[in-house]
Amino acid sequence: MKLVELLDRGGLEDIVSSRDLVALKLHFGEKGNTAFIRPVFVRHIVNRLRSIGALPFLTDANTLYAGTRGNSVSHVTTAIENGFAYAVVNAPVIIADGLRGGSYTAVPVTQRHVKTAYVGKEIVDADALISLAHFKGHELSGFGGTIKNLGMGCAARKGKLQQHSDLSPKVKLKKCVGCGECVAHCSHEAISLSDENKAVINSKKCVGCGECILICPNGAIDVQWGRDISLFQKKMAEYTLAVLKNKREKALFVNFITQVSPACDCYGHNDAAIVGDIGIVASRDPVAIDQASVDLVNGQVPAEGSCISGRVETGQDKFRVLYPKIDWSIQLDHAEKIGLGTRKYQLVSL
Ligand code: SF4
Ligand code: SF4
Repeated sequence: MKLVELLDRGGLEDIVSSRDLVALKLHFGEKGNTAFIRPVFVRHIVNRLRSIGALPFLTDANTLYAGTRGNSVSHVTTAIENGFAYAVVNAPVIIADGLRGGSYTAVPVTQRHVKTAYVGKEIVDADALISLAHFKGHELSGFGGTIKNLGMGCAARKGKLQQHSDLSPKVKLKKCVGCGECVAHCSHEAISLSDENKAVINSKKCVGCGECILICPNGAIDVQWGRDISLFQKKMAEYTLAVLKNKREKALFVNFITQVSPACDCYGHNDAAIVGDIGIVASRDPVAIDQASVDLVNGQVPAEGSCISGRVETGQDKFRVLYPKIDWSIQLDHAEKIGLGTRKYQLVSL
């Protein structure tokens, strides 16, 4: 199979040894979404790893928002319902950051924006890492590829909050009914009720664990989304550096440039692909693979009937048309600056 050949040519046997616990990091898709990577592809990768004598497992970290993957029970259930059952993929699903997203390893990176990264413990503990990213548009980073899959996707809840905001979530006062559940749940005593019976978060006490976001029955607590998109992308690149810190020689990156949906697989739906399927690319360089994937998508004819149809020519930047205010190149530029990889690449077709 070409996918297995691609992995072998990408250096699979250089990064994986017999008895290695190998984390296959992917996004299982929110319930209702259908654009995520097909489980049958994952099975072929698992079987190849097993033939080397490795012990692969499928993993992702819990989400910040209270969707269908916000705790490990819901997350595993969603993964199975989306087809990632053992009987299909031949490997177990192990959520990287524990039952409620509180199981992480603090990884020192001493970068400009991230000094310590909070990465899902099971990913840090794995012997090798294979990133399987569904390449697509993304409403915060322009596109989502390997850097997004690793930097944001491997971060525990505290790490995701750190990237999305300056740690503290915010209370939407109109939705808060003053039930006090978040006050009782916050183990850092960072939430109190005001005289108006509304929750108030003390950012000096808050450690950014994000638990209150899940706890609030009214969805009244949320991340401070998109306060600074440029900073967000830079933090994501620095987090990727942290994820790979103990795995630079034990990591391989694969982008599935298929069903290139305009937005993240975190939505419970997906719009029509913006271009036809291009294929699958693999690399040992997490920056080069994303640059090559962007270029491949931008070189395509826009798909008829998609949301960019008639708004962009072949060869033009489709991601800037999708998200005019977001400069996706920031993540690649910063990643290159901090030594994560290079934006230069050479494509070899199989
Ligand atoms: S749990 Fe939600 S509704 Fe209840 S006090 Fe906290 S923020 Fe308000
Ligand atoms: S994020 Fe964690 S520490 Fe901060 S207020 Fe919410 S529950 Fe408390």
